[in-house]
Amino acid sequence: MTNSYFDTDGFYRDSCERNYVKVDDIARNIAWTTDTDWGELQITINLSKPEKDPRAIAEAASKAPGASDYIDPATGVARPCPLCVTEADIACGYARTIPIGGETWGMWYSPYAYYNEHCIAMSWEHRPMHVDRTAFACLLDFVDLFPDYFIGSNADLPIVGGSILGHDHFQGGRHTFPMELAPIAETFGMSAHPSVEAGVVRWPLSVIRLRSADRAALADAAVHVLETWVTYNDPSVGIFSGFDGGARAQVDASGHIEKVHNTVTPIVRKRGSVYEMDLALRCNITSDEHPLGVFHPHEELHHVKKENIGLIEVMGLAILPPRLRQVMEDRGLSRDDVGRIFAQVLEHAGVFKWDDAGRAAFRRFEQALG
Ligand SMILES: [Zn+2]
Repeated sequence: MTNSYFDTDGFYRDSCERNYVKVDDIARNIAWTTDTDWGELQITINLSKPEKDPRAIAEAASKAPGASDYIDPATGVARPCPLCVTEADIACGYARTIPIGGETWGMWYSPYAYYNEHCIAMSWEHRPMHVDRTAFACLLDFVDLFPDYFIGSNADLPIVGGSILGHDHFQGGRHTFPMELAPIAETFGMSAHPSVEAGVVRWPLSVIRLRSADRAALADAAVHVLETWVTYNDPSVGIFSGFDGGARAQVDASGHIEKVHNTVTPIVRKRGSVYEMDLALRCNITSDEHPLGVFHPHEELHHVKKENIGLIEVMGLAILPPRLRQVMEDRGLSRDDVGRIFAQVLEHAGVFKWDDAGRAAFRRFEQALG
């Protein structure tokens, strides 16, 4: 099976040859794998991109284009927004257009390439990230166009989202992440969605995997999980959605779902004719004890990871900042030590822990999905 909408091999090769993808910089990154309780996690020390503070990300989310100091990796010229595509990008071959969600989107390969053929798809319009039915439809459209690629969206709330909340975008590519290899720990049924298989993935974050050959049924089931989660509270394990008990998710005319603390990080892939969607349940509640986030790496792990746990790390690939080389030397940490700390980082981001209380709480949520 090959990617069918256009020749991604050719587009990728061309992007590398023109140095839009910074092949030389990427070659300097340090990468290894560490065997953990969650399988073999993938670790990269990224030497070509600066670290961002979660509070700065939240601040940037509300800024209009014009406020970015982002330097275009292709041209060296400042851009108002790192993800706004221009006609010039299309004309010079830096970007292409793809039809998803009934719109024309842009697509290019990430200059930083965290993994093989790391591509970004972005709405032509500058508008904020939103995880909802429309986003799920776009993700499913993408894998129909490019069945060889996975595609995922960062969550759409600060702390649990990615580094760019202000421009609607996805990340995809040709890479097998550790989460994809993680088995289903248990299955459960949703009575209103009988044609969709649902299971809990054995993974440090709390991930529900949906599978179906029926695309529309899968999208309906995903919306059901999201809407249920958005208003879900379980104080016994620290989950506070910001909605009162019994509240229904607020959905506007265009299908956008209002969220306070709870959202999901969705990832979609296609296996033959079957669509597979992983939904990582996220909650960005903070507390006096954990002012950067309860389900965020806690302070004792900040020497390794302080940034938001975004889509790529959710899937088990750590992107660590250059300072890690010094941290490892100062603290006498081996690479496997860092890999095991990354496993703890992911455990902190899980809303339902893998202890008795967490397992029982996850089962209560499964029951709420009915
Ligand atoms: Zn933009």
